[in-house]
Amino acid sequence: MSYIDVKYLNLLSSMLPLFKKKGDNLWNFRCPYCGDSKKSRTKARGFVFRKKNDLFFKCHNCGVGASLGNLIKHLDLKTYDDYIMERYKLGVKTNNPEPDFKEFFSEPIVFPKKDIFKTLQSISQLSKSHPAREVVRKREIPESFYISDLYLCKSFYKFTNTLIPNKFPSLEHDHPRLIIAFRDERGEIFAYQGRAFGSEIPKYITIKLNEDSDKIYGLDRVNNSKEIYVVEGPIDSMFLDNCIAVGGSDFSKPLMINGKLIANGQLTIVFDNEPRNKEICIQIEKTLSQGRKMVIWPDSMKHKDINDMILAGYTKENIKEIIIDNTFSGAAAQLRFSEWRKINA
Ligand SMILES: [Zn+2]
Repeated sequence: MSYIDVKYLNLLSSMLPLFKKKGDNLWNFRCPYCGDSKKSRTKARGFVFRKKNDLFFKCHNCGVGASLGNLIKHLDLKTYDDYIMERYKLGVKTNNPEPDFKEFFSEPIVFPKKDIFKTLQSISQLSKSHPAREVVRKREIPESFYISDLYLCKSFYKFTNTLIPNKFPSLEHDHPRLIIAFRDERGEIFAYQGRAFGSEIPKYITIKLNEDSDKIYGLDRVNNSKEIYVVEGPIDSMFLDNCIAVGGSDFSKPLMINGKLIANGQLTIVFDNEPRNKEICIQIEKTLSQGRKMVIWPDSMKHKDINDMILAGYTKENIKEIIIDNTFSGAAAQLRFSEWRKINA
């Protein structure tokens, strides 16, 4: 990336409301294509960021993507001419092809939203031999989740109190936990789960920063026009594509993603493989009565959840295949459920 790009972006910043440098090679402002939110004047969903050696623009409101050159062209033709001329003089090739935005936005690009975790280290920031990183590695969690999903929190109670005053009135028995960030469609953290490293009870503590939102993990990367898989545990969801987790296992609520109500036909509920767990059986019955598709694991499957299957040597692809082969709905689901319960009782 040449300094020219940055120079011209700054030159045009006065035309971009709420223009702000958010980090190394990351800028944010109100989108000049759609005008951004009509309701809120403080929303800014246009981003300029670096990809390989070039800067690109992307709006998370209207979805427009453009090379920096095209953004400049859109804003001011005269400035665009100067920009091209200056690049030409410097010998920068002018026709940088625009990348396929769909392709690269499926990669986890991390925008440092509302940086409430700034005092924590993400797992990717820990040394390879750090014990917390070791715990995550041993669960075989894909490294793409080390960056903006998993963090180390050394004093869980104390940290939580900085966000929600007096959430834990006593700091006695405070201890470290692995934090799993629940981000909304725009990447902002609205809840998090702390998983104990040791035998601390409860194993999972979920903290909601916004009382109104449901505890759904994975909203920031789910594609709401494809089949969506729903599991209970965030860690299990990391091994299935287009998968979200509902912390607390209430699968019966209507699901809304990015303003779109997800139809039952587009959802597959993947329950844990625990026929003796009463709570799960209740959830399955509820789901049955709603006519949703669900996975009931084959009787030969002896592991209780997806992460355990991975640790036992199943690959992501194996698991996906088993899921597809064991998805039921309607009367067939009813039948399979009573079998599953009986055989495993
Ligand atoms: Zn826009």
